[in-house]
Amino acid sequence: MDLLRTCIGCGQADTDPRHVIALPGDVEVTWHLDCHKIAGCPSCTDQLVDAGGLTGAELRAYLQTKGI
Ligand SMILES: [Zn+2]
Ligand SMILES: [Zn+2]
Repeated sequence: MDLLRTCIGCGQADTDPRHVIALPGDVEVTWHLDCHKIAGCPSCTDQLVDAGGLTGAELRAYLQTKGI
C-alpha cells in the first residue's frame, strides 16, 4: 500500500507520482510531478516531457515503464 502524501502544490492527498524533497530538520515535502512542473522544477519537467499529459494511475504506470 502506497503512503498517502499531501502535495503542497495543490493540497491533495493521494498516491500519484511525487517528487519528494527533503528539507533540513527531517522534514519532507512532496509535490505531484505535474504540480511541480508547473512550479518550474526542471527534474519534474524532464520526467513529464514525453508523458503526454498523463496523470494519476496512468502517469504512475508510465513512469514505472521508464524505471523512475
Ligand atoms: Zn499537486
Ligand atoms: Zn520536482
